[in-house]
Amino acid sequence: MLHLTDLFKDIETELGIMKDINNFKAVRDLISHWINTRSFIKKNRRKGKKIVGICLPPCDLIYAFQNTLPIFPLRLHLGTFDALSNADISLKNAVNEGEAFGCETDQCVQIRTIYGCILLTKDLMDFWIGPQTCDKQTKIWEIINENFLPVQLVDAPHKTREHDFEKMRDEFDLLFERLVNLTGFRPSDDDLRDSVLMSNEIRSKWWKVYELLKNKVIPIHASTIINILNYGIFDWFSDPQFLKRLLNDLYDEMAEKIDRGDSIVDDKAPRILIAGNGTMEPQLPDIVETLGGIIIAVTMRYEWVYPQVDLNIRGDIRNNIAKHQLEIYHSWRTQPRLRFAKKLIKDFKIDGVIYNSCWGCRRFSPAARLYKDELQEELGIPVLLNDFYMFGEHLDQLKTRVGAFIELLTG
Ligand code: SF4
Repeated sequence: MLHLTDLFKDIETELGIMKDINNFKAVRDLISHWINTRSFIKKNRRKGKKIVGICLPPCDLIYAFQNTLPIFPLRLHLGTFDALSNADISLKNAVNEGEAFGCETDQCVQIRTIYGCILLTKDLMDFWIGPQTCDKQTKIWEIINENFLPVQLVDAPHKTREHDFEKMRDEFDLLFERLVNLTGFRPSDDDLRDSVLMSNEIRSKWWKVYELLKNKVIPIHASTIINILNYGIFDWFSDPQFLKRLLNDLYDEMAEKIDRGDSIVDDKAPRILIAGNGTMEPQLPDIVETLGGIIIAVTMRYEWVYPQVDLNIRGDIRNNIAKHQLEIYHSWRTQPRLRFAKKLIKDFKIDGVIYNSCWGCRRFSPAARLYKDELQEELGIPVLLNDFYMFGEHLDQLKTRVGAFIELLTG
């Protein structure tokens, strides 16, 4: 029988994720699920399920349509052993593909990657939900709609005034009807409630896993959490029952190792928060660990499973979903996110912040200076500003800068 560790044996064995494959059954299960993503999606499509591409939460609505599966296209693109084990090359291929088909090079790497991944996997999807969280995205979703896949644009108001809520509710109703047309299925309010209950349960299990990282004993490598587990936040890995089991198992295994004092880092290792853009250099977690630090939290991911964003199931469930969606969009504004970063810094005993700025992003990148000034002044937390343009670029420079930052944190 071929084991995962044999499959991956040619890959650089010093990577944190390789060590976690050896040490955690839950991580082996996760990687097995991941490298079977394409065959899993193809199998479900043959059974008549509609595959809905999605790049932002929540997937509560999609799971209410019982013959439908959500998929995050980046996971679909990397969803084979070969693609995952050469992730840096696969991601660059996606960016090149996006640029070759109309994506301007002044777009942020996030859009260039997602667009390329959609182009490379479009034959496995039936529909795309295009959130308009920034003006740069809209143009790309329009190109996809005209040439490749039917798209429903979803506007994303960033404030929570009454008319923003009405707008969000209208957007939600349009999306709902479009999914009814696509699938031929009209979920009842009870179907919506069941889906929301499941999502709430997943979010709470997810947060429990994150909370284990408040301990001094850190049993798992950040690369596993950031480069693999966190991608499930978009689509629940297209299999919520699998995800629930996985989070339970991962929690138990991590808790057991914490009880035994089985840490991957020195308990004096500086604890780092990643803020700013969600797309970052995939090697950053391993670089930080090799240089003696550890990434403990990521604002862009943690806020999606934070318990306060649980959805209310009482009353008008459609209103509740629309309100919840609006709150998520609102939480991405500079001040709410900065407040959340401060909360994480306090709760997870963070020593330093790396602010990840995607080149070309006019939304999150300009806030970098504010974080630097405010976190330093108010909390005495040093902030390293990291400009990110493309995967695998300027790694030596990144190592030098992170090394100097960790030295600063260790005093
Ligand atoms: S990173 Fe910035 S520019 Fe890119 S999609 Fe997000 S908000 Fe838009």
